[in-house]
Amino acid sequence: MNIILMGLPGAGKGTQASKIIKKYSIPHISTGDMFRMAIKNGTELGKKAKSYMDAGELVPDEVTVGIVKERLSQSDAKEGFLLDGFPRTVEQAEALNKIMDELDSQIDRTINVEVAEEELMNRLTGRRICEVCGTAYHLVFNPPKQEGICDLDGGKLYQREDDNPETVANRLEVNVRQTAPLLEFYEKQDALVNIDGERDIDEVFEDVDEILQNI
Ligand SMILES: [Zn+2]
Repeated sequence: MNIILMGLPGAGKGTQASKIIKKYSIPHISTGDMFRMAIKNGTELGKKAKSYMDAGELVPDEVTVGIVKERLSQSDAKEGFLLDGFPRTVEQAEALNKIMDELDSQIDRTINVEVAEEELMNRLTGRRICEVCGTAYHLVFNPPKQEGICDLDGGKLYQREDDNPETVANRLEVNVRQTAPLLEFYEKQDALVNIDGERDIDEVFEDVDEILQNI
């Protein structure tokens, strides 16, 4: 089973990914991991990617796509994989289809974990960090016993810059704009399945699991 997992920040994609790879023993292939592996192994493409990254430049698509192809060609991905963070654009999605053709395979499903933006705002802006020990709390999901105070050491809790509503709203908007054309692309290919992510982790996984069992 060759799967792409999509979802906005805070949608619970990472949690679902862990459950999928545990149950189905397929590799979880994220863009970051792929780059790190290529660079660590010193492949030609890894070296190229590193030179762009070191210069603070965007790695060009042809290099990224090459690294994806290297990774998907490895033996542990033969029985399937879970792709996360790639493709990001329709051009990359088209390149991925070509790679799959060359590997005599295809993308079976693109699973999109859907959560309304308002709920994502709640999830993403509720994090508070202890200024003493760095423990993370969440106002809704994991609140401290006493408001604004760390349970462990009485340290003050603060909100990271990244988690403030304006920054989070921007991040979401950029993501929505980026992923909309991709979702459309996979919908046209009849590969897209939307899952309601505004439920319990296990309930969401039941739906994901049902999709995977029917591939
Ligand atoms: Zn603390």
